[in-house]
Amino acid sequence: MAYTRDVEPSLMNDKKAANAGLSHAAAKVSDYFGCNVFGPETMRLLLPKEVYRKVQDAITHGKRFDLEVANTVASAMKTWAISKGATHYCHWFQPMTGATAEKHDSFMEPVGEGNVLEVFSGQQLVQAEPDASSFPSGGLRATFEARGYTAWDPTSPAFVLETPGGSTLCIPTIFVSYTGESLDTKTPLLRSIEALNKAALGILDYFDGGARKVFSTLGAEQEYFLIDAAYYRARPDLVLAERTLFGAASPKGQQLEDHYFGAIKDRVFSFMTDLESELYKLGVPLKTRHNEVAPNQFECAPVFEEANVAIDHNQLVMDMLRRVAARHKLSCLLYEKPFAGINGSGKHNNWSLGTDTGKNLLTPGDTPRQNLQFLLFLVSIIKAVRDHSLLLRASIASSGNDHRLGANEAPPAIMSVFLGAQLTGVLGDIEKGVTGKSTPPAWMDFGIDKIPAILKDNTDRNRTSPFAFTGNKFEFRAVGSSFNNAGPITVLNTIVANQLLETKKEIDALLKTKKDFKAAAIAVVRKLYKEGKAVCFEGNNYSAEWAAEAKRRGLPNVKTTPDALLAFKEKAAVAMFERLGVLSRQESLSRYHIKLEKYAKDIDIEAKTILEMVDTLYVPAAVEYMGQLSAAIEAAGRLLGKEACLRSPQELLRELALRLSEARTSAAELAKALAAAEAVEDAEAKAAAYCRKVKPLFTPARAAVDALEGLVPAKLWPVPKYREMLFLL
Ligand code: ADP
Ligand code: MG
Repeated sequence: MAYTRDVEPSLMNDKKAANAGLSHAAAKVSDYFGCNVFGPETMRLLLPKEVYRKVQDAITHGKRFDLEVANTVASAMKTWAISKGATHYCHWFQPMTGATAEKHDSFMEPVGEGNVLEVFSGQQLVQAEPDASSFPSGGLRATFEARGYTAWDPTSPAFVLETPGGSTLCIPTIFVSYTGESLDTKTPLLRSIEALNKAALGILDYFDGGARKVFSTLGAEQEYFLIDAAYYRARPDLVLAERTLFGAASPKGQQLEDHYFGAIKDRVFSFMTDLESELYKLGVPLKTRHNEVAPNQFECAPVFEEANVAIDHNQLVMDMLRRVAARHKLSCLLYEKPFAGINGSGKHNNWSLGTDTGKNLLTPGDTPRQNLQFLLFLVSIIKAVRDHSLLLRASIASSGNDHRLGANEAPPAIMSVFLGAQLTGVLGDIEKGVTGKSTPPAWMDFGIDKIPAILKDNTDRNRTSPFAFTGNKFEFRAVGSSFNNAGPITVLNTIVANQLLETKKEIDALLKTKKDFKAAAIAVVRKLYKEGKAVCFEGNNYSAEWAAEAKRRGLPNVKTTPDALLAFKEKAAVAMFERLGVLSRQESLSRYHIKLEKYAKDIDIEAKTILEMVDTLYVPAAVEYMGQLSAAIEAAGRLLGKEACLRSPQELLRELALRLSEARTSAAELAKALAAAEAVEDAEAKAAAYCRKVKPLFTPARAAVDALEGLVPAKLWPVPKYREMLFLL
């Protein structure tokens, strides 16, 4: 059905939809939090003691357990899931599409004579064999069989997903090929978590804190847009490309700065409470909700968790955002830049290192010794970002995020680290080796020697930094809103693990020359800061001065995805991933190819959508109006003859004809470039063609259509306008 402006979009006033969230809002969260999760507490209740202990061992120490244990767990899981209304189970995994995947199997099993039983075995829990041939494999498949295996990841709890049609038991799994090559994002993530664990323990060895395990922690703030579902459906660009490829700016955008933290509209509030109760049932600890900067943009954030679980939970958050939005006759846009001219959406990844003894390794300590440990981790991270900023940039590269990075709303494509004035001062002093008379006051009370007291409530903030230290964690702010966080966090874990191993080597080398530990460690802190500090920047990352300064410092500023992705196939990077056991050479290259292909496909879809919209929506609308206008001019001429003053309508007609012709001409040019790009065989050359030849031609096509939008009567305009999508809810 054609979009008509006469119809009230959705159902905005649909009482039932508006109240969809009220049932749970009334209940106490602690009464139902995690009720659909097969977590430790449920397991302790349902499993024999010995079996429970073995599962916990598997979770905390990565120990394997036998089929008998798996059978017992499966049986308990089945009974529990069925009591929650589940009829099916699925291995829930994360192929390299960025989304999650699931293939449902019924518990039902015929047992003869027309009878069935509910069956779920340990084997079915532990492993499944989905056909891998229709998932991206980036060349891995060519050399291997199509068979792929999913294997249970007991470190992230199974859960029952309730959907309007029924409930399903979901078991988080990894996804690997027949020969063990990872076909997913979770496998390398788990490997990077292990690499980081080992490397960090190597540093902790010097300090005797008693920790036996170190893990990365993650709190992922998630930004998103909500628009009325009727508007979404009437925009082919949103449906197909998840962003508006056309649209004249609304007279009001975000310039009044009245949306951020503003009062939440009832309809949105009702959506949010419904979202929260669904996620609470799944054990996702959502903590904050608020309006974001752009109109109809919002954010939610959970309390941080161990990274693997936090990433699974973030995937659930994105999934639930979409499902619950649909229930409220809304559409949730997770794309990085759905609307031109206003802010896009990101994911702020708050990341730190936690220990099994409950310590946060990025919290400055109370004693000089603890501070020395803190400083070793801190400078190692700075050095890692300095040396591998290209990899970090590559980990957040996508056609969507290209619109956001450097658009004066999100950090630029230059990776830099913000530390705050105090830490910058402390590290600067260590670098200069300040002692004695020139010692600043903060250095007076650090006790023994050379290690300063560091204020814990370091509250400096820098909202423009892509990688900011915020007192006891880093905030990696450049990640795109639609990303699976496993990619960026795998890279971050790996580069830090790599540097921690180097850091240890340097300390050990100095210890051999008979330096005492403290002197050796301080020397290493000094050296690493000196080598890494070019990446530290305290100023405004959005400014042109910073781009110039970064260039002087030799920091890369890679603006497009195809260029950024090259980092994944650089020799040193491939070798590092291999050395640390995170990605084999082949796995690294497969990821490079998948991302490159994805980029080309994204631009291809956008180009084709533009062409279709120009020809089937915008041109007909303009022609229709021109017809009306010419008829009116002719009629007026007939009636009034020479007296008719027709200059102004004729000018309008002329302007319409001009814009129409511009739209057609630029579409024709785009079509030509598109055909040429489609014909390119080589993947790199193809992505380059889409990036440099096809994409730039979107701009003139859009400019012509957006100009037409300003001329054609709103009544005839075939798709919802920005002012409608962004302000009517
Ligand atoms: P802001 O928007 O001011 O940055 P928020 O409260 O929205 O702050 O988000 C902060 C996020 O950082 C939360 O998800 C919080 O749980 C998380 N966080 C706090 N401590 C840690 C930590 N040690 N490791 C990882 N994330 C953390
Ligand atoms: Mg934050």
